[in-house]
Amino acid sequence: MYCKHGTNVGNPYGADLMCGFCEDGITETEFELMKENDSLLEKVDALEEKIKYLESQEQVLKIAMAYIKKLENK
Ligand SMILES: [Zn+2]
Repeated sequence: MYCKHGTNVGNPYGADLMCGFCEDGITETEFELMKENDSLLEKVDALEEKIKYLESQEQVLKIAMAYIKKLENK
């Protein structure tokens, strides 16, 4: 048995036939929007990771450039 949210809610004779979303009265549409929002948040997280990586790369580059300049001045 699966509810409209795709959660396994056990057999029809079981006591609990509602998932958390059912209990909260969340409609299928609201659920779809929540899933969409979650995937958007995941994308934002991935982008933030990339930005962090780029920032650290820039720092490494700066250090490398400073090192090269130091060598040139010798
Ligand atoms: Zn449900």
